[in-house]
Amino acid sequence: MINTNGYAAHNAIDDLIPFRFARRSPGPDDIQIEILYCGVCHSDLHTARNEWGNTLYPSVPGHEIIGRVTAVGDQVTNFRPGDIAGVGCMVDSCQRCEPCKLGFEQYCDPGFTGTYNGPVHGGENTYGGYSDTIVVNKKFVLRISHTDNLAAVAPLLCAGITTYSPLRHWKVGKGQKVGVVGLGGLGHMAVKLAHAMGAHVVLFTTSPAKKADALRLGANEVVISQNPNEMAAHANSFDFILNCVAAPHNLDAFLDLLKLDGTMTLVGAPAEPHPSPSVFNLIFKRRKLAGSLIGGIAETQEMLDFCATHGIVSDIEMIAMQDINIAYERMLKGDVKYRFVIDMATLPEVPIEP
Ligand code: NAP
Ligand code: ZN
Repeated sequence: MINTNGYAAHNAIDDLIPFRFARRSPGPDDIQIEILYCGVCHSDLHTARNEWGNTLYPSVPGHEIIGRVTAVGDQVTNFRPGDIAGVGCMVDSCQRCEPCKLGFEQYCDPGFTGTYNGPVHGGENTYGGYSDTIVVNKKFVLRISHTDNLAAVAPLLCAGITTYSPLRHWKVGKGQKVGVVGLGGLGHMAVKLAHAMGAHVVLFTTSPAKKADALRLGANEVVISQNPNEMAAHANSFDFILNCVAAPHNLDAFLDLLKLDGTMTLVGAPAEPHPSPSVFNLIFKRRKLAGSLIGGIAETQEMLDFCATHGIVSDIEMIAMQDINIAYERMLKGDVKYRFVIDMATLPEVPIEP
């Protein structure tokens, strides 16, 4: 077993604190990784605070992991010690069901094993990237071809793939008008990616102060979503809208902006339900309301390679592990540009209990 230092939530209310635990030693198909950086996703906060009602404690969040390979099992040929590697939201899936065979491990029928809070049908809890070491099956480890700024690559492992996958699935590209709702961790990646795919990008925000950033990140236009006149100017005009908001809100205001056969896809996963969309907003223009979950492993690799080719990384603010609780509070206030990333070199050694 490998003694591992991390940070964990022990219940829904108290701060995350240092936590020592054991990881398995690498088996023949496993890769052991020294974690260098881990992004802070809003899902980490939802989970640490049990907002989705399914948290297993202690909970070590973190699924935007960049690290250095330190050991590999004897059946591993795709990585060697010293390589830089990534781990995202999944560390296993059944590999037998139809979605898995199609490369959609995120839609695995029995359920994929999450990098943290993983067991959906029993088994041991999984501990994520707020830690110094992780051991992962080789099928779920990603190659990183970015050569520098590795901390800013970490958020691609969740925020990047969660926005890339629906943009690709709904064939976003040149000649299309695409909306992105919410300029947070996911939203700012969606703006960069949709821009790189050639779409005309309109960013919807509740934060007027983010307007200049949105334009710098690649948006062609910015709309303050609480301003009815600004919203009305875009009625019936969007091919596709990607909704990245982490809180319940009025979906009708955005459905109204889709043109005939347009689609709005939800990736934000608030703890409380949205007020239901009006059926009239859907039937009158044959509009579609959809959802999308992260992305498969092959598609995550494709996204990482796409980002390396296009020089895309996340806009980050690096934090020390000890500042994670402050970072959660700031994330709730929308006070992050646009992803916190933990520098794992700051992780304290947890004393072994006598
Ligand atoms: P985040 O960085 O906190 O960004 C969320 C953004 O939503 C905020 O920056 C804000 O943008 C907007 N917002 C917040 N409260 C709002 C409100 N009351 N009304 C309207 N807009 C509001 O969060 P994130 O890490 O990007 O994650 C976003 C959501 O996606 C979370 O629920 C997370 O769990 C979920 N998620 C889903 C998947 C998936 O696979 N589907 C994967 C990862 C995360 P403005 O200031 O611009 O309005
Ligand atoms: Zn995430």
